[in-house]
Amino acid sequence: MKVSDLLKERTTFSFEFYPAKTQESSEELFKTIQDLVPLEPSYVSVTYGAGGSTRELTHDLVVRIRRETCLTVVPHLTCVNSTRSEIHSILERYQENGIENVMALRGDPPKEGVRDIPSDERFDHATDLVRFIKKNFPEMCIGVAGYPEGHPEMPNRIRELDFLKEKVDEGADYICTQMFFKNSEFYDFCERSELIGIKVPVVAGIMPITSSRSMRRMSETALGMSYPARLMRAIYRTDSDEKLARVGVHWATEQVRDLLDHHVRGIHFYTLNRSKHTIRIYDALGVSKSSDLAL
Ligand SMILES: Cc1cc2nc3c(=O)[nH]c(=O)nc-3n(C[C@H](O)[C@H](O)[C@H](O)COP(=O)(O)OP(=O)(O)OC[C@H]3O[C@@H](n4cnc5c(N)ncnc54)[C@H](O)[C@@H]3O)c2cc1C
Repeated sequence: MKVSDLLKERTTFSFEFYPAKTQESSEELFKTIQDLVPLEPSYVSVTYGAGGSTRELTHDLVVRIRRETCLTVVPHLTCVNSTRSEIHSILERYQENGIENVMALRGDPPKEGVRDIPSDERFDHATDLVRFIKKNFPEMCIGVAGYPEGHPEMPNRIRELDFLKEKVDEGADYICTQMFFKNSEFYDFCERSELIGIKVPVVAGIMPITSSRSMRRMSETALGMSYPARLMRAIYRTDSDEKLARVGVHWATEQVRDLLDHHVRGIHFYTLNRSKHTIRIYDALGVSKSSDLAL
């Protein structure tokens, strides 16, 4: 099913996974996905490693989810460092396997630099990818990324929204945001987007902080978001990862509760390939499946 159609029906709840690198961890991941099936997510998405590093792994996981579960699946696809014919053949394979959605991203250029691709064969921005998909695979539903606190490469917040609008004008059906920890940032982003004429649904990206390691990893990668002081204080009080995870899950639960009260169009959980924290959030909200969350 197309995500754009799901978003028309009711608030969506989606889970994100990244492909595992070994056969053993692939089986573990598949078990995690199956553990989350009872929560009845509207769809799940699978990331694409920077510069296409997980091309086959992403493809294989997406196709396996499609064949072996009842879940709607959205593959992520990054275009930086890829030629148009490479991207065309990836999308063609997805289409042959009945995949109807794609998350269209530019991605981050690899540290060792990008390949020398002629200008008529390369993609400079996600907008180029959206235009390409719309032209060659008009039936695909397209999601694009949005950044409530800004993308780290773009200091001009006003221009940035114009670029987001370009992606939508070229054919994006919905926006999924970078994770954020302060809902007011998301509400303001939605309002600013609406004011410049963006009309597609905006799905809120939520990630519970679950360990000091994940916090460190996030601070080492320029993702553009910040931790509110109240959350930092609560985390600094904890003396173990287990307690820190409880704080993280509690914070994310309160964010979800508030987003639901504000009639958000969709909530996307960055699961980090684990099921227990997402299940705990559902438990804390007093529900056992997604449809119970959408009033
Ligand atoms: C929901 C979500 C999912 C993601 N999934 C993945 C994934 O699976 N794999 C992965 O590698 N990364 C992923 N990312 C990270 C993403 O690839 C990076 O943030 C990347 O740096 C930007 O990708 P984009 O699609 O937002 O790019 P773009 O929309 O192209 O934007 C990139 C930068 O260029 C600027 N820009 C856009 N158009 C123009 C223009 N015409 N002229 C000048 N500047 C312009 C933008 O303002 C922004 O600063 C994800 C991010 C999000 C929010």
